[in-house]
Amino acid sequence: MTSQGEPPSTGAKQGGGRAAQGGVRRDSVISDSTRSGSASNGSVSSHSGANDDRQSGVRTASGNVLSLPVLVLNRYFMPLRLTTTRRALLLLYAGAARALDEGELYSFPEWLALPTRPQDDVVPLVNGALRVPRVLQLARYDKHPRVELRLTRKNLLLRDEGRCQYCGAQPTPRDLNVDHVLPRSRGGRDSWENLVISCKRCNLTKGQRTPEEANMRLRARPSRPRWSTTTHILLSSKHPYAEWEPFLQTG
Ligand SMILES: [Zn+2]
Repeated sequence: MTSQGEPPSTGAKQGGGRAAQGGVRRDSVISDSTRSGSASNGSVSSHSGANDDRQSGVRTASGNVLSLPVLVLNRYFMPLRLTTTRRALLLLYAGAARALDEGELYSFPEWLALPTRPQDDVVPLVNGALRVPRVLQLARYDKHPRVELRLTRKNLLLRDEGRCQYCGAQPTPRDLNVDHVLPRSRGGRDSWENLVISCKRCNLTKGQRTPEEANMRLRARPSRPRWSTTTHILLSSKHPYAEWEPFLQTG
């Protein structure tokens, strides 16, 4: 890790040619990552005097852009998860992933050299702009492609398709509750296996009883969403970009 403001002794080879060509140094835009992340190459800009300004400028000017969703694929082009643009650019910068655009894979230096188009979201830089990638392919084999979906009311609603798991009603989301199958007061935990979506009426009827005690049947045994379901949930939970479509069937 190179501390900020201290030029690395080697490197800047990849960016050097371009910088000389256009007189533009853009390599250091996400260099704050290299202090906590794993910078694997030496392409950190040695022109580090402006780092502070650049970093704070990017943060304030494009906070929203940096949180735009990016689809992450594994080596076999199977969708793994969504990440933020910020994280995507860090992965790209560290050489852990390549950006996929119109069938072409780009390394960070290559991506940096691409011009921005009208349809692109861009991260503004001091001397230009960086395209926001929509799809990223992880370079390494991912041993554990399983995604940990967060246990939230929203994701439970998606898993249970907005349907009461007792009576099957599909009212508006605000008329649905999250029900502990084994009530919390009796040791029931917050887990995919013990939480279901229920309508307010069923929730009230059931009270502090188990489904058996209340003589209510669950439509399905609640479980952690499977990988394919997880992918589906991830992709449906945000507005998908056209660039994601080829990968939607894969899950
Ligand atoms: Zn119900």
